Amino acid sequence: MWNNASMMRAANEPMLSSNQSGPIRRRGLMLILSSPSGAGKTTLTRDLLSDRALDLTLSISVTTRPRRSSEVNGIHYNFVSRADFEKLRERDDLLEWAEVHGNFYGTPREPVEKVLIEGRDMLFDIDYQGTQQVLQKAAADAVTIFILPPSMRELQARLERRAEDAADVIARRLENARNEISRWPMYDYVIVNEDIEQALNEVRSIIVAERLRRVRSESGIAGFVQSLLDEPL
Ligand code: 5GP
Repeated sequence: MWNNASMMRAANEPMLSSNQSGPIRRRGLMLILSSPSGAGKTTLTRDLLSDRALDLTLSISVTTRPRRSSEVNGIHYNFVSRADFEKLRERDDLLEWAEVHGNFYGTPREPVEKVLIEGRDMLFDIDYQGTQQVLQKAAADAVTIFILPPSMRELQARLERRAEDAADVIARRLENARNEISRWPMYDYVIVNEDIEQALNEVRSIIVAERLRRVRSESGIAGFVQSLLDEPL
């Protein structure tokens, strides 16, 4: 079980990463993507996950929201009843949780712990409330990115094009978008998703740079530098 103490341990110990920079070990990252519904985050997430070189693992949330016809239980979300969600919450099995658009969403703690301990990076598609909770628990390992739509008109058009939600659901999401958009100052990076390829490249660049930050692999670098200094010539 992941409590705050083991979080701290995860934050302080370097772990072997499958996508480390050469011989240097580093900790796994928690890469958080947030945006209002319809800003293109789902497409971005899908493209990032299909890029094998990036080697990202998606955190699959639990939700009480009804499944959309395009969604598969266990892949996009684990769809649960309100009663089951409450049980998970009471047992402290969720790393964070929030009510969004009238439904509950939460991140199961255990898979995150497992991936980070392997020194691998995990991708989170969660809202600003969840981001705030993760930052309180593990700020050193979190990289947060906020995706903005190019315009509110475009956001509305994308929500309507998706045509998977009822009109009242779309209206509620548009209304909530104004509140969500105002949360941008909480994030490390802000990207305007005007062109999906460009946005994707920007996220890739962030991942590459964040993986190379000295603080993430301090003891790995120290060990490597020592081996350079000890190398007989
Ligand atoms: P959707 O219903 O469109 O799939 O998601 C609605 C919102 O809930 C999105 O902004 C998404 O990022 C957020 N969300 C999805 N899963 C989680 C979660 O586990 N925790 C939190 N806090 N938000 C989530």
